Amino acid sequence: MSAKGVTTKALAKKLSEKSRVVQAVKVQDIEDAVKSPYFSPVQTRQQRKNTKSQPKRSEALVKSEKSTSTSANSKPIKVNALTNNNELQSVNIKEDVNERKDIHLDSNEANTKTESQDKWEPQNWRLILENIRAMRADAAAPVDTMGCHKCSDNEADEKTQRFQKLVALMLSSQTKDEITYEAMQRLKSSGLTPQAIIEIETGKLEELLKPVSFYKNKAKYLQLASRMLVEKYDSDIPGTSKELQTLPGVGPKMAHICMATAWNQVTGIGVDVHVHRIVNRLRWLPKPTKEPEQTRVELESWLPRDMWQDVNHLLVGFGQTVCKAVRPHCSECLNREICPASTYKSTTKTKIKSESANIAAKISKLENP
Ligand code: SF4
Repeated sequence: MSAKGVTTKALAKKLSEKSRVVQAVKVQDIEDAVKSPYFSPVQTRQQRKNTKSQPKRSEALVKSEKSTSTSANSKPIKVNALTNNNELQSVNIKEDVNERKDIHLDSNEANTKTESQDKWEPQNWRLILENIRAMRADAAAPVDTMGCHKCSDNEADEKTQRFQKLVALMLSSQTKDEITYEAMQRLKSSGLTPQAIIEIETGKLEELLKPVSFYKNKAKYLQLASRMLVEKYDSDIPGTSKELQTLPGVGPKMAHICMATAWNQVTGIGVDVHVHRIVNRLRWLPKPTKEPEQTRVELESWLPRDMWQDVNHLLVGFGQTVCKAVRPHCSECLNREICPASTYKSTTKTKIKSESANIAAKISKLENP
């Protein structure tokens, strides 16, 4: 038996002793050993063999697999990753982390051009998104508790709440959620309606906003926008993203997020710095983009519309906690083996070890929900 086989077996044994459910010799076969109802039967190897309705493997995928397995520098191995159903599934990976573009799912067809042969879509995006969803569920991010949707006064009337959500969005540009949230508390304590913002002295307003970034400009825009709202919209905010963009200091990103949070209408994807950075890292765009607005257009061209509202919140929190602008935590990321921008470099041994730890944690969670 090879050294890798011995390591794998030893790890599987340890896991077996610890969790009392893992009995498979190979770590990647854990899904077959576990008879837990939490694992979808169609995801087990045995069930896959028996399932007649398996999709045919595309020629492109078969070719890709052949070239992967015959490449001189590549040694395909299998690890477990979270699938679209948030379950563990074997994924073929190559030891050479620099060639991750060749990574694909074993039983899930290559994602590119699966739903429509004419439509471009990035490889493995569903798996990556579900992994992000799983990471977000595990750790709260500032946006969850202090995001703009949490800044309005629930006791206020609906018009005022919508206005407060817009104000929070205007303040949040290039400002941390914590800082925006605190400034919103100060504003609310001195009355946060369009009329109150018009009436407050500009210097006093600036003091209330400080240390929000660009607080002087934001104070000016807030007062101009509030005047427009009073004069043109009866102190409410406009009900279309186009009209919202006519307000001073409101751009497309803010308008689309405002439509979702204030009016509960999805009109576009809100692309802020986190979304812009992450989708470029993941190569979720046909070509790299420089501006968030370009990113929004490209992302909307392939991402199903029913995911538009979710994706902003998911990626913003993911960017705040894991995929940070500087020194992203790739070694902790569930996508580390399939992300094109991953900086994670592991040996086969550490890969198996970390995947085994993930499996053990998953099992423990299932056993003790
Ligand atoms: S592997 Fe690194 S760069 Fe890729 S999504 Fe995860 S944290 Fe971001």
